[in-house]
Amino acid sequence: MYLEKSPNLTGRIVLPEDPQYNTARQVFNTFFDRYPLVIVFAQETRDVINAIKWARCRDIPIRVRSGRHNYEGLSVRNAGIVIDVSEMKRAEIDRSRQTATIQTGLRDYQMAQLLGEQGLVVPPGLCPTTGIAGFTLGGGQSSLSRPWGLAIDNLLEAEMVNADGRVLHASRDENADLFWALRGGGGGNFGICTSFRFRTRPLETVAYAEISWPISDLKPVLKSWQTYTLPEAERRLTPLLTIAAGDSTLLMMQGVFLGTETELRTLLQPLLNSAVPQDIFIEEIPWLEAAARIAATQPGSPEPFKSVGPFVYQLLPDAALNIIERFISEPPTSSVSVFFHGLGGAVADVPNQATAYYYRKALSNISYFSTWDTPEGAGPGIRWVESFRKAMQPFTRGVYVNTPDLSICNWPKAYYGSNYQRLTRVKAIYDPENIFRYPQSIPPACL
Ligand SMILES: Cc1cc2nc3c(=O)[nH]c(=O)nc-3n(C[C@H](O)[C@H](O)[C@H](O)COP(=O)(O)OP(=O)(O)OC[C@H]3O[C@@H](n4cnc5c(N)ncnc54)[C@H](O)[C@@H]3O)c2cc1C
Repeated sequence: MYLEKSPNLTGRIVLPEDPQYNTARQVFNTFFDRYPLVIVFAQETRDVINAIKWARCRDIPIRVRSGRHNYEGLSVRNAGIVIDVSEMKRAEIDRSRQTATIQTGLRDYQMAQLLGEQGLVVPPGLCPTTGIAGFTLGGGQSSLSRPWGLAIDNLLEAEMVNADGRVLHASRDENADLFWALRGGGGGNFGICTSFRFRTRPLETVAYAEISWPISDLKPVLKSWQTYTLPEAERRLTPLLTIAAGDSTLLMMQGVFLGTETELRTLLQPLLNSAVPQDIFIEEIPWLEAAARIAATQPGSPEPFKSVGPFVYQLLPDAALNIIERFISEPPTSSVSVFFHGLGGAVADVPNQATAYYYRKALSNISYFSTWDTPEGAGPGIRWVESFRKAMQPFTRGVYVNTPDLSICNWPKAYYGSNYQRLTRVKAIYDPENIFRYPQSIPPACL
């Protein structure tokens, strides 16, 4: 029982009777429609502390939220308190130390813009509206990951409010076990992170490629694309591939390259020769423009969807390409897609056990995605993703924790591999009463 006297809630408080309530409770995946008791938009760390204490005194379940992009809508729940940090957006850049301390309310693209205007970068996600909190805590796969690693590989320190309402700092030198767990353990498990200190890197211009083909060229293009994710492949290029079907089709490679346009053209020659492209754009452009072009092809506004992202560890054989082609040629809803995010390079330089993000040696992360226009589309859309994931299981390993799927039974192994037991031990130290819990959250080990 939590005995400390309850403080009042502070920050911007939204209750069910308030006109903003319906907007405030909405999440990016509109398939989920949940009704919390209260939503607290923290303006500063003190508001987070007060909200945790308030909730614990009343035994009210807590959910933590930043960018609202959790695939299963788990940052909101019925009859609970949502502690939302999205209005905490301060950032301090220290040029001499090459660091930026950023409050966790910023979205990925806001962080990219804020730093980009200073000629700096921390590898951000592809989607403009993903919150840096959830993105970073799950690992943070970026269009700069092959040269510069995951977001967590650039994280130096996190500030976190724990279940007792105490502010902790986690870094290599302080609470190192927590720092290990926060780097890939997934959001909402250990406490509420209020700021991150990242290492920044200078970046002004990149060479950027965007090449599209008719969808009928899926197999030759994908065969060639995969070779750019091999360990020996040029790590200055992070390649992406979108294969979409439904009301419209798309087969498009995008890639950010830290080098010149001429080098990139030469590098991409085998891919350009794999089939006849419809459109080719290969140019040196400002980094922020490249980030904006990638962001423009991501889902931009809330919609109902199902998605999940396992890892690929091998060049996919014909049997796997046949499965992809079959699913893509049978879209059950208005829009389905398969997305490959090239990994390896600096991501793979880090051992699997060095941070909680386990699947370091994957060549890429593959996501199956469906969305629908009418409620009747939900069943077929969800089944399409689930059947696709199962059909591809012989060719994939694990699942990215930032793409949770509640239908996965052995989720500890799927998300964390052999890092799971250690995560439960860290949980037992920092949240022994399991105050921060939700379906598929990490339970405390019995110590
Ligand atoms: C369209 C789209 C594109 C994406 N693109 C990428 C990509 O390029 N790369 C990539 O790696 N991932 C990507 N993702 C996945 C994304 O990283 C995860 O969905 C991530 O968890 C979203 O974080 P959020 O803060 O927006 O979401 P939220 O729903 O707010 O939170 C996600 C999880 O983190 C917890 N959490 C939120 N804030 C905090 C906090 N302050 N402290 C502790 N826990 C917290 C929540 O409780 C929840 O469990 C994408 C997702 C979508 C929907």
